[in-house]
Amino acid sequence: MQVTALDADLIVCISAFWQTTCTAVRAGEEGFVIDSPVLPHELDALPHVLGQAGFPVSGLLATHGDWDHLLGRFAFPDASLGCGESTAVRLRAEPGEAQRELRDFDDEHYVKRPVPLSLGAVQSLPVPGRLALGDGQRELELHPAVGHTPDGAAYLIPWLGVLVCGDYLSPVEIPWLSPGGSVEAYLLTLERLRALVERVDTVVPGHGGPIPRDEALRILEEDVSYLRALAHRGAEAPLPDGRRSRSQRQIHDQNVAAVTS
Ligand SMILES: [Zn+2]
Repeated sequence: MQVTALDADLIVCISAFWQTTCTAVRAGEEGFVIDSPVLPHELDALPHVLGQAGFPVSGLLATHGDWDHLLGRFAFPDASLGCGESTAVRLRAEPGEAQRELRDFDDEHYVKRPVPLSLGAVQSLPVPGRLALGDGQRELELHPAVGHTPDGAAYLIPWLGVLVCGDYLSPVEIPWLSPGGSVEAYLLTLERLRALVERVDTVVPGHGGPIPRDEALRILEEDVSYLRALAHRGAEAPLPDGRRSRSQRQIHDQNVAAVTS
């Protein structure tokens, strides 16, 4: 796990697996952890990393309901998990789904976990909306971010100039239409994110990153081009430069199936 302090009040941890990001933000005596690393030893290390840096953990947040972003309670079992209302609806509609997918992943990679994943009572947050921290001195902004999946929220941290956007604008992964995602919703989200990216210096995508604003805007244009080509040309759509590996071509095949089904 790679640990980067972007600011005295913001730490980004990048998992060795899928480069899944976990962002800790602090204001005064309060702090939140957005998303999670994937591997057990990374989740074990997280409380020590944040403790040593003096980061309080008042609660956990998730950008969306895919299992690899929901593992924070392995690190902080007493903390409650909050997410945008669309994600809360998805988690309620698919009880046990994240646990099943985690088990499949663990079986495939011979990963052992000390206990099963428990999400606890998930707290639904209004999107768009605001979440106060630091005795109300600071506010996280929640913005809708759907299209990769049917659910999701991006977290804007205005006082630090950082956007934590979930599985969009990734330097390592092409746009991925998971079940319930769509090209139309994804493109609308990218337009919404464009306005948010212009308000910040740094973007922390769900996989890879953190990246400076200009790189995020460049990726955004590449992703718009890819998705438009996918809608019109299906399998013939060219993949963005630097994201053409075998794994990215497999995601592309899934996207083609999603737009032609
Ligand atoms: Zn993801």
